[in-house]
Amino acid sequence: MKYRAFLIKYGEIGVKGKNRFLFENMLMTQIRHALKPVEGAFEVTKEQGRIYVLVVSEDYDYSGTVEALKCVFGIVGFCPLLQVPDEGFDRLAETVVDYLTQAHPKKNFTFKVNARRARKNYPMDSMEINAELGGRILDAFPEASVDVHDPELVVCVEIREQINIYSENIPGPGGMPVGSNGKGMLLLSGGIDSPVAGYMIAKRGVSLEATYFHAPPYTSERAKQKVVDLARIVARYSGPIRLNIVNFTDIQLYIYEKCPHEELTIIMRRYMMKLAEHFAAESGCLGLITGESIGQVASQTMHSLAATNDVCTMPVYRPLIGFDKQEIVTVSEQIGTYETSIQPFEDCCTIFVAKHPVTKPHLEHIRKSETHLDEKIDELMQTAIDTVEILTVEAE
Ligand code: ATP
Ligand code: MG
Repeated sequence: MKYRAFLIKYGEIGVKGKNRFLFENMLMTQIRHALKPVEGAFEVTKEQGRIYVLVVSEDYDYSGTVEALKCVFGIVGFCPLLQVPDEGFDRLAETVVDYLTQAHPKKNFTFKVNARRARKNYPMDSMEINAELGGRILDAFPEASVDVHDPELVVCVEIREQINIYSENIPGPGGMPVGSNGKGMLLLSGGIDSPVAGYMIAKRGVSLEATYFHAPPYTSERAKQKVVDLARIVARYSGPIRLNIVNFTDIQLYIYEKCPHEELTIIMRRYMMKLAEHFAAESGCLGLITGESIGQVASQTMHSLAATNDVCTMPVYRPLIGFDKQEIVTVSEQIGTYETSIQPFEDCCTIFVAKHPVTKPHLEHIRKSETHLDEKIDELMQTAIDTVEILTVEAE
C-alpha cells in the first residue's frame, strides 16, 4: 500500500481556547523538524482543525516517516491515509475494498465501518454509509464479519472535500509539543539516568539545553563523545540541543586538595549545579533537570539532595525521583539511549569518589568545608565559564 498522507491525532487536554492554535502550530513545527532527515518531501498542513502530513515527492521513505512521527511529542497517534476525490459511492466502495485487500492480508477479520460526514451535501448520511459500505465489504470478503463492539478493524471513512480512508492507528509518544513550555537546562552525564530525565521533561513540551562536566585528562575524548552521542539521541525527541561542555578538572582537583574526601561528591555536585545554573540563566532556561532518584547512590539520599539543592535558586526538576533503576533502564531501552549509556567510559564523578562518602551530610559542615576554597574558587569558576565549549547537537 502506498500512502501519500498521514492524519495526525493529538490530545485535546490543554488545547482548548486560544492555546489550541499555538499548540497546533508548535506541533506542526516539530513535525517538520522531525521529518527533515527523512528521505522525501513533505507538507504539513492544518485543515478544519486537523493536521495532515502530505507526501509531495514522487518517492519517500515510509518506515522512516513512521519512525520520525513516533518521536514527536504531542502526537497521540497517527493514521496512514488514503485520500481520494469524491467520484460517487460505487467508486468509493471499490476503493475501500481495494484498500482493505492491500492493507490487510488477513481475510477473516472482524470490522465495523465508521463513517463521518464533514460535508453535509453528500447524498448519504453517516448511518447509511456505514450500512451500505459494510455490506459491500462483506460481499468482497465473505470470511469477514461485522463486530460493532470489539472489531479488529475500524474502517474510517471521512467525507470532506476529499475522502479520507484509514484503518490503522499508530501510537505516538503523547505529551506536549516541544517549545510549548519554555526551556530547561539538563545536567547530562554519560550515564543511564540523565538522558531519560531529559526525555521526560521534553515530553511535557520543554525545550532542552544541556551541560556536561568533563575532567580531561582524567576523562577521555571518548567519554565526551559518548555524551554528544546521547544528546543526539535525545534530540530526536526534543529537537536540537545546545550542549555546554565545561572543563571541570581544576575545580575538581582543588576540591580534592582542600576538602574532606568523604564530602567530595556533595561539594562537587554543588559546584556543578552552580555552574549549570549560570549557563541556564544566561540562556533563559527556567529550571535545571537532573537524573537523580532518591537513594540511588550516597549523593542522592534525601540529606544529600537537600545539600545539593541548597545552592540552587532555580527550580530543579528531577523526573526520575521515585523511579527504581530497572524502571529507568526500561525507558532508556525504549527511547534508544541504553546501548550508548552502558558503554564503559569513565565519568568525572567516578574518578575522585571517596571510599566512604557521607550519606547524611550536614549542611553546616559542607558550607564550612567550602570556605577552604575561598582563595581560588571564584577564579576557577570564572575560567570554567570562559572556556566553555558549545555545540549544537541535532538528531541524525
Ligand atoms: P546518570 O544519572 O546520568 O546515569 P550517574 O548516575 O553516574 O549518571 P550521578 O552521579 O548519579 O550520575 O549524578 C546524578 C545526576 O547529576 C545525573 O543524573 C546528572 O543529571 C548529573 N550529573 C552527574 N555527573 C554529571 C556530569 N559529569 N555532567 C553533567 N551532569 C552530571
Ligand atoms: Mg544516576
